Amino acid sequence: MGKEATHTQTREAAEPRGGADLSEPGPNGRALLAYQAETESNARTYPRRLPVAVAEASGSYLTDVDGRVYIDFLTGAGALPLGHNHPELVAAVRDQLSRLTHGLDLPTPVREEFARRQIAMLPAQMRTDVKIHFCGPTGADAVEAAVKLCKLATGRGGVVAFQGSYHGSTHGAMSLTADLHPKAGLQNLLPGVHFAPFAYCHRCPLNLTPDTCATNCAELLANTLDDSHGGVPRPAAILLELVQGEGGVIAARVEFARRIAAIAHDRNIPVIVDEVQTGCGRTGTWFAFEPYGIEPDVVVASKGLSGLGLPVAIIMYRKSLDTWAPGSHIGTFRGNNLAFASGNAYLDVLARDDILANVRTQGAYLRAELVKIQQATTLITDVRGLGLMLGIEMARHGSVTDTEVAARVQRAALRRGLILEIGGRDNGVVRLLPPLNVSRHTVDDALAVIRASVASVDAELAGAELVGAVDR
Ligand code: PMP
Repeated sequence: MGKEATHTQTREAAEPRGGADLSEPGPNGRALLAYQAETESNARTYPRRLPVAVAEASGSYLTDVDGRVYIDFLTGAGALPLGHNHPELVAAVRDQLSRLTHGLDLPTPVREEFARRQIAMLPAQMRTDVKIHFCGPTGADAVEAAVKLCKLATGRGGVVAFQGSYHGSTHGAMSLTADLHPKAGLQNLLPGVHFAPFAYCHRCPLNLTPDTCATNCAELLANTLDDSHGGVPRPAAILLELVQGEGGVIAARVEFARRIAAIAHDRNIPVIVDEVQTGCGRTGTWFAFEPYGIEPDVVVASKGLSGLGLPVAIIMYRKSLDTWAPGSHIGTFRGNNLAFASGNAYLDVLARDDILANVRTQGAYLRAELVKIQQATTLITDVRGLGLMLGIEMARHGSVTDTEVAARVQRAALRRGLILEIGGRDNGVVRLLPPLNVSRHTVDDALAVIRASVASVDAELAGAELVGAVDR
């Protein structure tokens, strides 16, 4: 079990404590949020829906600048697998801080240990045929690197990505992202990107149901690639998330992932798995691709690598792809020795505390309890995900869209002191990304908040309906 309880504050509140509404900032928070709104870019995002100004944090909990405590089930958008400030990781960073922080891509002992141990986390058959590249410190930069690597190795120009995908916010990575909103008005994105249907069986893109389906979405891609009039030249890579996170927590069906891997293999197309969000234990195995039984050609990892939210990103890939020239993908910040030190300590804690078992146990429990909440409301159409990467797809309620229902649930949870993210199509999915060492106590506390929040939104909407009916 995780050690989270040893370094967190406890918090016992399913209802706002003392009537305090934690979705409204206190006086100190209001001042910081106002300054931010005035000075920072219009492109900022989280504080719009989560107006929380943070003073400090520990484990699954964070404290705002007015001293109110929240449960954090967003945890750095998944970048904090051991929650905030795990003491052993902090100690490792402190120790490294006095030795070396920035090392470009010069070898250092802590970098060597990190590379060796990351390679050792791959399935045994992949470890002997692998190269690692340290990218600029974001997931998006590592996606850029992976795509360039495959373009250079294959001499081809196109990339197949999937509907519902998210790969980052740089020009190339955003081109490979399916969500149209951030791309609206943005000219001259990367050409040659083809979006294929993903196995989103809850709302099948081909209007099939599992009993009438032979993984037709994957077959469509095979047909498209083989058709001389299909319009899509053989691509440099197929870029796949095993669980689409930002796309609404949609786990690929096993048959789908295997079929895509086989289609790619048969046509000599490298498969890049984007494990930026799913990786480092989030789904209950170190990488999400493991239980699918597929062998990717390139693995992209970032968010959880350091365990502590320190920026670092890597790609690990088949040696035969290593044809690029020195300097093909460079950047100043490719040697974050602090992140390497905490990443090494994270692997120690992961093994010692059997964090992956905790992910599976708490994830299964959380999911089962969310299904019970679903059964008591008409506002939830689906509960899904893998490990501790879970999503609750909301339903439309009369004229109230699923987007609005999700926003109301998010707000109602924040009011009670629980930080949740929303995402997916039209932001209609409430997302849960708790720390991987989360305790049952905290999970129960969060569940009580979610239960109360869904019930309160249910009551609000039923009340609105009643008023509407009386008005009519
Ligand atoms: N790929 C996936 C699957 C992601 O979820 C994200 C971030 N949400 C990225 C890439 C981009 O990572 P970053 O924000 O660090 O650039």
